[in-house]
Amino acid sequence: MNETYTIRVTKDHLVFSAGHFISYEGDKCERLHGHNYRTSVEIQGKLDHNYYVFDFITLKQLTKEIVDKLDHRMMLATQNELIDVKEKENSVHVRYRDREWLFPRGDCVLLPIENTTAELLARYIAQQLGEKLSSQYHFQPDVLRIEVEESEGQSATCELRK
Ligand SMILES: [Zn+2]
Repeated sequence: MNETYTIRVTKDHLVFSAGHFISYEGDKCERLHGHNYRTSVEIQGKLDHNYYVFDFITLKQLTKEIVDKLDHRMMLATQNELIDVKEKENSVHVRYRDREWLFPRGDCVLLPIENTTAELLARYIAQQLGEKLSSQYHFQPDVLRIEVEESEGQSATCELRK
């Protein structure tokens, strides 16, 4: 029999509050608003020589480093076809048709994703975490799963497999 184990760090420790808006249904765009996002991370794999999949504290720290960069920021998707994001020296200029926003550069985080949906935020966090695990710890889990909860009872999960 093949044994697989799963470890999970839950969302109460991994919270970030951030602003965003998404485009939807092709040509619509939400108003600027924010969420208290909660993240949980789950990794699946075999046991190592310590008899664990991966160290809990390190996993929590690595994930926290990623979500801390989103905390208290305006999250902007740079790959969105409808929302134009232009980085200036000290500011970020955002335009959707006749609506325009100007943010201080330091208040924003520019994300190389198509839309700041919970799904793509989960994918972004999963990819960043996968990169950290592999580059810093030479560890590749069989499955890496990130859940991002936008509001209570409303969440999206992204799963990356080896
Ligand atoms: Zn929202």
